[in-house]
Amino acid sequence: MKIVRTAAELPRADSVGLVPTMGAFHEGHLSLFRAARSENEQVVVSLFVNPAQFGIGEDLERYPRDEERDAQLAEDAGVDVLFAPPLEQIYPPGFQTWVEVEELGSILEGQYRPGHFRGVATVCLKLFNLVRPQRAYFGQKDAQQAAVLKQLVRDLAVDVEIRVLPTVRDADGLALSSRNAYLSPEERELALALPRALRANDPSLLNGVEVDYFEPADFEPRVLAAAVRVGNTRLIDNVVLEIPCQASAWLGPSSEGEPS
Ligand code: AMP
Repeated sequence: MKIVRTAAELPRADSVGLVPTMGAFHEGHLSLFRAARSENEQVVVSLFVNPAQFGIGEDLERYPRDEERDAQLAEDAGVDVLFAPPLEQIYPPGFQTWVEVEELGSILEGQYRPGHFRGVATVCLKLFNLVRPQRAYFGQKDAQQAAVLKQLVRDLAVDVEIRVLPTVRDADGLALSSRNAYLSPEERELALALPRALRANDPSLLNGVEVDYFEPADFEPRVLAAAVRVGNTRLIDNVVLEIPCQASAWLGPSSEGEPS
């Protein structure tokens, strides 16, 4: 696997899959790398902790960083290129152009993290332009991010297919996240209320955590989305509410309309 710092060193191929990340890899990231590996000739993973998507007082400075470990994990997952640019490759001096997905970017996460999706949309469009992938891979864990990026490529006619892969969870149900590393054992126990409440569609199960929101969201697919704070750590998660027709077809017509 090649580690590259500048766009000029990136390979050109007819079939490139890009996985944008901020590092601190876990099985969630690896599932995206493997999907990209199976669908493309070249797999590029970008590793860039994007300051533009962090608000003032958020965890930019303490965000976990370990490039050596990440490079090893990416190589083991069959990644061809780790693109780890310095700040000025993404935001050269004088940078002043931003992408705003106005409605989708301002609800839910956008309401609690103003400017977050502006930073996400801008860095992803920049990465698409530098890497020129045919496909880009994202996790359903960040359902709103996936929705924002699908809207972006549609609105601006960006020729990239947005692929969204299922949320990977620990055995206890907690969605994997780089931010789980901040949790003490006691906080982790409290954090388990998040997947439990989502699965049961019951916000009253959210004991011991501060709830920012817990509500359905009209993305594709529709989800029940939530954000909570456990101590100083903010966690988001969601469950899919609508199983696409094909996936539920095996239930057959007899189950249609029956009370459940
Ligand atoms: P991050 O490094 O946190 O920006 O995440 C990079 C990509 O990995 C994003 O598309 C995330 O949605 C995805 N991702 C993060 N956690 C998970 C997870 N538990 N399951 C699936 N995808 C994930």
